[in-house]
Amino acid sequence: MKTLQRTLTIIKPDAVRKNAIGDIIEQLEKNDFRILALKMLEISKHQAEQFYAVHAGRPFFRTLTDFMSSGPIVALALEKENAIADLRKLMGATNPASAEEGTIRKKWATNIEHNAIHGSDAEDTARFELSFFFAGYELAE
Ligand code: GDP
Repeated sequence: MKTLQRTLTIIKPDAVRKNAIGDIIEQLEKNDFRILALKMLEISKHQAEQFYAVHAGRPFFRTLTDFMSSGPIVALALEKENAIADLRKLMGATNPASAEEGTIRKKWATNIEHNAIHGSDAEDTARFELSFFFAGYELAE
């Protein structure tokens, strides 16, 4: 059974630097994601550490949070049936070397860390991540 879900995606600093914002948003819309809200912003190192707290202690935590606070990002709140799994399919594998043809990471990622896009991986993380970037009043009805 399909249920309407919300998820959070981030166009990461590498993709913003490559002028890929438009292409990635086009792919999201073509794949029937409804954009409920979007904003371009920069986050601090501390905010990146809070966002990725689940990865604290991993060997890549320092470089990941340095990278995510290294320049502008675009955060989008998305809605679709099966949004969480469908977004992760469209994103492609974390390591672009393993990403399938036609995925966003295959097209835009540079390496396993500078991999163009983030997507929530479950309903509870989607709720946390959406509320990290957006207040309820900012989401389209
Ligand atoms: P995602 O859900 O596909 O984004 O992957 P994860 O939640 O496992 O990891 C979060 C982010 O940390 C990834 O998107 C990468 O930017 C980075 N990352 C994950 N695994 C590695 C790794 O083994 N090495 C490095 N350098 N970065 C990683």
